Amino acid sequence: MSGIQKQPFLIGGQELRVSARTGVSSYPADGEDIETLLRNAEAALKKAKLSGDKHLFYAPEFNAQIAEKLTLENKLHRALEQEQLVLHYQPKVNLKSGQICGLEALLRWNDPETGLVPPMRFIPLLEETGMILEAGRWALAKAASDSLAWQSKGLRVPRIAVNVSPIQLQKKDFVGMVAQVISGAGNTAVELELEITESLIMQDIEANIQKLRGVQEMSIEVAIDDFGTGYSSLSYIAKLPVNALKIDRAFIINMTSNSDDLSIVSTIISLAHSLNLRVIAEGVETEEQANLLRLLKCDEIQGYLFSPAVPAERIEEFLREKKSLPR
Ligand code: C2E
Ligand code: CA
Ligand code: CA
Repeated sequence: MSGIQKQPFLIGGQELRVSARTGVSSYPADGEDIETLLRNAEAALKKAKLSGDKHLFYAPEFNAQIAEKLTLENKLHRALEQEQLVLHYQPKVNLKSGQICGLEALLRWNDPETGLVPPMRFIPLLEETGMILEAGRWALAKAASDSLAWQSKGLRVPRIAVNVSPIQLQKKDFVGMVAQVISGAGNTAVELELEITESLIMQDIEANIQKLRGVQEMSIEVAIDDFGTGYSSLSYIAKLPVNALKIDRAFIINMTSNSDDLSIVSTIISLAHSLNLRVIAEGVETEEQANLLRLLKCDEIQGYLFSPAVPAERIEEFLREKKSLPR
């Protein structure tokens, strides 16, 4: 059987595309009775749906993997209910002034059993199950309320960037969701930015241009994340309603040793400036990288050199002390 069928059926004026996956188990290796054989074929089918394989033959570890995933999924449901998600923040620093000019909100899961879990271990499953809609909405609301709380303590709070998942942006009412969250937070006083990965924006470009415009109309900025790793068309970059480009960490890591990566970084900075966009370098870990980026006229840096992502209380201290990058 094929995956998604290329030729749609036309039924009642609607185009329908049918897709099929197959899970296979065989007698007697995978089971000696019908029930076991069907159950194992089902496990292979589930696995094929997740992996995107057209057909998969059963292997004993499939059941264990599915069980493990189900446990994690249940734990994540509880995590959302019991508010075990937390936001840490990583400062962005202006290279001219050395001052903190932005914060990026990064999701963590405070699992009572294992402690802080990094996003790469649970965001893929949140996305697969659709729970990212709730988690992403929560992150935006939490960032806005943290900003207001700091402001009420008399602190000058920079713009806070929140990451947006493809699953969120694909929703028709994405702009409505954002509007609802920020109006709930008492809005206008809070400066926000949404970070959206490059590969995602290019997928459904016309619809995304409309949505991003809607976001900007609420005075929320838009940054393209992981820039340089996708395949953006230059003619679209100029048309996109965005305010900033974030150069992917992969180019920053090798910039001081690899001349190709150095030219990519330098080209992205020039491109951004010629389009009147701010440019931010991610993953800056050394002074050598920061100095080179300063020479290249990069606007902002973010990375372990200044600070990793830290809990909200620590950010409050940074803002109070006006922590800055030594020059
Ligand atoms: P990202 O948006 O590219 O975030 C940057 C990641 O690089 C963060 O990892 C950050 O801690 C790490 N990082 C920052 N500076 C350095 C450095 O100097 N060196 C190194 N080695 N790493 C650095 P983190 O927090 O583990 O987040 C990973 C990814 O998870 C993020 O990548 C983002 O794609 C996703 N993510 C995090 N929070 C959210 C969220 O609220 N919603 C969604 N949809 N995705 C999120
Ligand atoms: Ca990001
Ligand atoms: Ca990134």
